[in-house]
Amino acid sequence: MAEILVLIDHAEGEVKKVSFELLTLARSLGEAAAVWIGPGYEAAADKIAEYGPAKVYVAADSELTDYVVAPKVEVLQQLAAGAGAVLVAATGEGKEIAGRLAVRLDSGVLTDVVGVTPELVAKHSVFGGSVIAHAKVVKGTPVIAVRPNAIALEAAPGSPAVEQVSVALSDAAKAAKITDRVVQEKGERPDLTEASIVVSGGRGVGGAENFKVIEGLADTLGAAVGASRAATDAGWYPHQFQVGQTGKTVSPQLYVAAGISGAIQHRAGMQTSKTIVAINKDPEAPIFELVDFGVVGDLFQVVPQLTEEITKRK
Ligand SMILES: Cc1cc2nc3c(=O)[nH]c(=O)nc-3n(C[C@H](O)[C@H](O)[C@H](O)COP(=O)(O)OP(=O)(O)OC[C@H]3O[C@@H](n4cnc5c(N)ncnc54)[C@H](O)[C@@H]3O)c2cc1C
Repeated sequence: MAEILVLIDHAEGEVKKVSFELLTLARSLGEAAAVWIGPGYEAAADKIAEYGPAKVYVAADSELTDYVVAPKVEVLQQLAAGAGAVLVAATGEGKEIAGRLAVRLDSGVLTDVVGVTPELVAKHSVFGGSVIAHAKVVKGTPVIAVRPNAIALEAAPGSPAVEQVSVALSDAAKAAKITDRVVQEKGERPDLTEASIVVSGGRGVGGAENFKVIEGLADTLGAAVGASRAATDAGWYPHQFQVGQTGKTVSPQLYVAAGISGAIQHRAGMQTSKTIVAINKDPEAPIFELVDFGVVGDLFQVVPQLTEEITKRK
């Protein structure tokens, strides 16, 4: 069985959930092999083993994380010879690694993938999510960037073999050095792109102060908060929470859109959500075209009642 390499996405000692999703997917495609780049593997080893890789390649040299993406590409390039495929997360960094790696391997890259068959045919969401395409890399080792939350997690505990890897970085890989790292303040809420529930507010929320209503529902559900561009551009909510074509792409189990009209650019970031609920006072709002459950009403009446009802049932 061909080895399917999975680049483990980790920061500050924490492995991103998408990496476990990629390991789950890799097991269905061949022999899953995790690739850990940088120091700190030991602390994450047990958690990684839960998702059943047959092997873990550990490139522990701290120099590998001193530069931007190029060293990661060189590690993967060294390991990819003979691999069946390389899977990375379809994050900003993951997609950059995927593109560069495919060039180095003289193969092909598929991004924003939401599923892969055992024949390595990828289902991917393109043109801002308006088209689902099926595609296969026909030359070399495919490099596939998979969206967070697209694959249902399935544990398969095992005891992977660990192989230490050393890579002599090229001068080109050291061209851009990281000079400082700033840890973003993280609240109690889950990460927007990894959350299984997202509650988003739009222009209909009417102001920064009113976002408390959205946050209240989100906290009751253990959800992340998102916002439309109209809301972030107005300064009502920080830009890092914008969902859409020029914001984050989310694919949670449940997406709740309150006071959002459903413009194509917003849909591009959320329409692969498994269940979509919208609350909008305009019955003609385009968001209702794609919802599983729609409430026509004033969000300031509906959302607090919903929050109260969920709290009662907890
Ligand atoms: C190049 C480009 C990129 C873009 N990228 C993005 C992007 O990444 N993300 C994004 O979101 N947008 C993006 N946009 C903007 C997008 O086109 C829309 O303008 C934006 O999504 C609208 O946000 P909205 O739905 O919150 O506001 P509106 O379209 O103004 O809709 C507000 C909705 O709230 C409803 N409403 C009002 N009051 C209430 C109430 N009390 N209760 C219930 N409902 C109420 C209204 O009926 C209306 O449907 C982009 C645009 C361009 C041109």
